[in-house]
Amino acid sequence: MTSPESPLVTVLGGGQLGRMLGLAAIPLGIRCRFLDPVAGAPAVAVGPLEVGPLGDPEALDRVAAGADVVTYEWEGVPADGARRLADRVPVRPGWRALEVAQDRLAEKTAFRRLGIPVPEFAAVDDAAGLDAALDAIGVPAVLKTRRGGYDGKGQAVIRTAAEGLAALAELGSTGLILEALVPFDRELSVIAARGVDGTVGTFPLVENLHRDGILRVSRAPATVDPATRAAGDDIAARLLADLDYVGVLTVELFDVGGTLLANEIAPRVHNSGHWTIEGAETSQFEQHLRAVLGWPLGSPAARGHSAMLNAIGTLPPREAVLAVPGARLHEYGKAPRPGRKVGHVTVVAETPAVLDDRLARLLAIAPGTLG
Ligand code: AMP
Repeated sequence: MTSPESPLVTVLGGGQLGRMLGLAAIPLGIRCRFLDPVAGAPAVAVGPLEVGPLGDPEALDRVAAGADVVTYEWEGVPADGARRLADRVPVRPGWRALEVAQDRLAEKTAFRRLGIPVPEFAAVDDAAGLDAALDAIGVPAVLKTRRGGYDGKGQAVIRTAAEGLAALAELGSTGLILEALVPFDRELSVIAARGVDGTVGTFPLVENLHRDGILRVSRAPATVDPATRAAGDDIAARLLADLDYVGVLTVELFDVGGTLLANEIAPRVHNSGHWTIEGAETSQFEQHLRAVLGWPLGSPAARGHSAMLNAIGTLPPREAVLAVPGARLHEYGKAPRPGRKVGHVTVVAETPAVLDDRLARLLAIAPGTLG
């Protein structure tokens, strides 16, 4: 039995996002329970962890039993499983958001339908389809798998016909999407939450730096003019309303001369929102919990200027990081491995100039690890 005083949130996935949801839950008196295929996944530190495949009906039934709401921290959760659970317990965000986020073609088609600017794209299902798509879109272009890609995996840039054939050989020739390679000025993301009553709270736009397809550094609030800020808010609002969405949603964007093109959505809390723990009135993790439980949203306003640096592969030296004023270290409890996100550092300052200085100090501490 769950008491109204202590709601139970079941989280599908127990990685670092689950861990940070669990951490945000503690002061609010919320209990979290997790399902993850890996014993000892990062969320084990903050709540009971059921070990099992995320698509396994029995494991889903066990972990959802008695929950007030089921949510997820990974968009790879099989949509079928979420749909089945939704007969018994609220699943937030709903399975429709999962279906859209799991298929790059469905995602880009939804953007277009909603009037959200998007890079030119075409479905590719064989070599002839690639030729036709390249004729229509031109080069340079990016060929991506429609499903299963993350952190830059499952995609290849194409500049010549020969590269097109090589990309087909590497990615497999079916279930692909070709997109124009966007000459963006920078990458941004918009993170917004929608409550059960339809209230929306949108965090300030975030500027993101990727290398090798992996997010390295985020800065927030991004320096943007009011029209760009409004465009970001509008993109989030259209998606949230269309998907009848409840929870935190992230949209990754390309800024091309002030026009925002949508790249992809994440129907969950997001790496580019980690700065909100220290740098916003309400963290994205608390906001997600408030939203899925039907509670009032908190203010998404920024507190000062923040930068977030991912620790990739190994952790930076703790004491050196903590000696930088305004720096906060977050370890995920994961074994170090090349290319793996094992933690992050957020640094907050009152002015952009002081932030620049602190960020430079952090980048110097562990080049290659941070940022
Ligand atoms: P994705 O998996 O779609 O988020 O792609 C990972 C990263 O690859 C993005 O953050 C961009 O840096 C880059 N990228 C993906 N698609 C495109 C595109 N159509 N044009 C330019 N860069 C892209």
